[in-house]
Amino acid sequence: MSLKDRREKRKLSETPEPDRSTKAKAKEEIYLIHMHDASHLHWDLRLEMKGVLKSWAIPKEPPTEAGIKRLAVQVEDHPIEYAEFSGTIPEGQYGAGTVEIWDKGSYIPVSIAEDKLVVNINGERLKGKYILVKTKLGKGNNWIFFKMK
Ligand code: MN
Repeated sequence: MSLKDRREKRKLSETPEPDRSTKAKAKEEIYLIHMHDASHLHWDLRLEMKGVLKSWAIPKEPPTEAGIKRLAVQVEDHPIEYAEFSGTIPEGQYGAGTVEIWDKGSYIPVSIAEDKLVVNINGERLKGKYILVKTKLGKGNNWIFFKMK
């Protein structure tokens, strides 16, 4: 039964029972950036979404200030547990090199669309409202990542 069915059964003005969840707060999700010194040094932005870490590889240091735009290439989703990972991926394995946590914290989704994400990041280095917007260039996995003014 839905919440709507429940409401229809009761005269809410005549009972002290709570009606709807007006206080539902946007949930904080995991945010982190790995610095990954593989064949090319890059930064891996990871945002928890629907039980996985959505991931983007950023070839240059992520911007802490507005006015700097970075290419962010979407890569495979990673398991949530990967948020805790740092260490060395051995020679011969995919992504061989060192991985360290460059920034971490949480984020609150502001608006989420298929080709544009607005997120409020609360990290140690990155703080504030950031945008990820899909570009039409490349193979369909190129995004631009920047901080809002
Ligand atoms: Mn990587």
